[in-house]
Amino acid sequence: MAKKYIFVNKNLKKARVIKSTGSWATVKNDDNQIVDCKIKGNFRLKEIKNTNPVAVGDLVEYDTIEHNDNGTINSIGLIHKIEKRKNYIIRKSQNLSKQAHIIAANIDQAFLIITINFPLTTTTFIDRFLVSAEAYSIPVTLVFNKIDRFDKKHIDKLKLLTKTYENIGYKCLQTSAKTGEGIDTLKTEMTDKINVVSGHSGVGKSTLINILQPGLNLKTNEISESHKTGKHSTTFAEMFEFDFGGYIIDTPGIKAYGMLEMEAWEISHYFPEIFKVSKNCQFQNCSHTHEPECAVKTAIKNGEIAESRYISYLGLLEKDDKHRAAF
Ligand code: GDP
Ligand code: ZN
Repeated sequence: MAKKYIFVNKNLKKARVIKSTGSWATVKNDDNQIVDCKIKGNFRLKEIKNTNPVAVGDLVEYDTIEHNDNGTINSIGLIHKIEKRKNYIIRKSQNLSKQAHIIAANIDQAFLIITINFPLTTTTFIDRFLVSAEAYSIPVTLVFNKIDRFDKKHIDKLKLLTKTYENIGYKCLQTSAKTGEGIDTLKTEMTDKINVVSGHSGVGKSTLINILQPGLNLKTNEISESHKTGKHSTTFAEMFEFDFGGYIIDTPGIKAYGMLEMEAWEISHYFPEIFKVSKNCQFQNCSHTHEPECAVKTAIKNGEIAESRYISYLGLLEKDDKHRAAF
């Protein structure tokens, strides 16, 4: 027998999407109730073609439909409206449709977990990540993990990197999931915020998260070499609540955010220290490569801008840099 709708509560309620699988979304409303919702109509971002209408982190308005399912009253939500996103991260689809999948929206901050060794995180990787986060307007904190394994050489490098990134304005933390050092600070930083955690495989993301919130058992490291294929398209981001307040977004199988299409001139805008100094270049459209009277190159010579940052900048400038579109 067909389901009969018996009651529609037209009072729109506000909620946040904590899980989304395409046509269904699980939301948490202002009264902390968890409701499964269907998505009404066609929501599409104007700027990009995207495959999923709502994403984890979205703020939505929904009403409730109750129906009699062979004597059992079931209630589902129907999402009518998605609030404008303050930011979002996307993943480009692998095929040629150029469609993007929105991984998550309305993120307060990202934590990039870095290891100086075991494994090595390069400055190129760090800078690419920072550029993509700047482009999405997501503040980043750099977390240097596994400090219990650092010898003198590693500590010197840690100091140098910390100085480089703190000078630009990025917060830097040091942690050890083994000794517990720095965990309280990390916890304080994440409290009451919507957080994403990124970084190379093996840097300790899942270990750190499981210390912050025991029992979560996030799937960060779930994708083993042998299972790599096919999993990416079927995994969806999910948002978990911390007991101490705030959320963590798990992005299974996603190693980096998809970069928005970026023009060459735009790239320097996402290197805050380069952008700041570039106002003093002789040419307004200076690319800081070959032009005379370039304030950026002077700043590098004077040690005001780190050479490693400039190298990353040049790498992203290269036109045939495949990573720029795909990263
Ligand atoms: P993920 O791939 O980023 O999620 O990394 P995992 O959390 O799976 O950690 C990879 C390995 O590093 C595991 O064997 C962890 O026990 C280890 N590990 C994580 N954090 C630390 C740390 O701070 N110190 C040390 N010595 N080992 C760590
Ligand atoms: Zn210049």
